[in-house]
Amino acid sequence: MIVMKFGGTSVGGKQAIERTIGIVRGRLSQRPVVVVSAMSKVTDFLYTVYDAIDSADSSLLEERLRELRARHLSVVNELISGPLWREEAASRVEALTASITMSSSMASVISKGEYLSSNIIVCAMNSLGIRAAWLDARSYMVTDEDALKGEPDFDEICRRAPKEIDAAFSGQDVVVTQGFVGISKNGTETVLGRGGSDFSASITGMAVDADVIEIWTDVDGVRSADPRKVPATRCIPKISFEEAFELFGNAAFDVDRNGKRKSLLSRISDFMTKKAKKPVIDENLCVRCGVCVSNCPVPGKAIDFVNGRESAPQYDY
Ligand code: ASP
Ligand code: MG
Repeated sequence: MIVMKFGGTSVGGKQAIERTIGIVRGRLSQRPVVVVSAMSKVTDFLYTVYDAIDSADSSLLEERLRELRARHLSVVNELISGPLWREEAASRVEALTASITMSSSMASVISKGEYLSSNIIVCAMNSLGIRAAWLDARSYMVTDEDALKGEPDFDEICRRAPKEIDAAFSGQDVVVTQGFVGISKNGTETVLGRGGSDFSASITGMAVDADVIEIWTDVDGVRSADPRKVPATRCIPKISFEEAFELFGNAAFDVDRNGKRKSLLSRISDFMTKKAKKPVIDENLCVRCGVCVSNCPVPGKAIDFVNGRESAPQYDY
């Protein structure tokens, strides 16, 4: 089994989704679990949907939901040509947008982007002859009660994920699920924090003991900064354990199987060029300058994405 994570730009519209489906099609023999983000900019937009709820403005909520529905329906109509699956996808989009009401919690609202994108992708795959199952990540992604930055309960996830994912695979070629979303033991909807889909993919890969975890994004490898904001970025061939930990969390590592830390993250691939790199995670590398072993000359942090998970390179909002 392998885990393939696709970020917001990789699922942002007809062409991107077709490309994503093509990449997944090439991996069917490896039993891919596909973890998707919301379409680009959708999570940001969902915050404005929640603002309408927060300010008790029901007509504003209606207006924003109309916009949300329209954006997703236009992708459905462009992407899916077979009427059966197109109608199926459209009705899922309708139901998901209608499920946002004046009493929805913030975590519930901002997680809808992943539910929308994953449903559209599953319908598109099926219409293209790929037997794809949709799996609610909340069937296994158990967190604590922190609704907006849930801390995963690894033991519980490891108990549930293999069963749920195996069951979803029965008679299917691929399982599509959501990044970012979680559920607390008490049944409260949670999310893992902004940019949390990479983390979701790592956790899922760990829990099913995946052969490979692939992060498909806008860059090959880990870069020194967001290339959309900084003109010249460099690829960082080696990152420290702390950096890798902040980016991908504990789940990127096989921590306890042999008492040794081994990176599970197999590669980071550029969605457009399909170039891929596996960052080497070096436990002894300096977090600040990336070179020295002691007496670091660099004050503060030299690599500017290493400020915690939220500020990890975010190419797909
Ligand atoms: N959609 C979520 C966000 O924008 C999670 C992710 O894309 O990783 O933060
Ligand atoms: Mg991301």
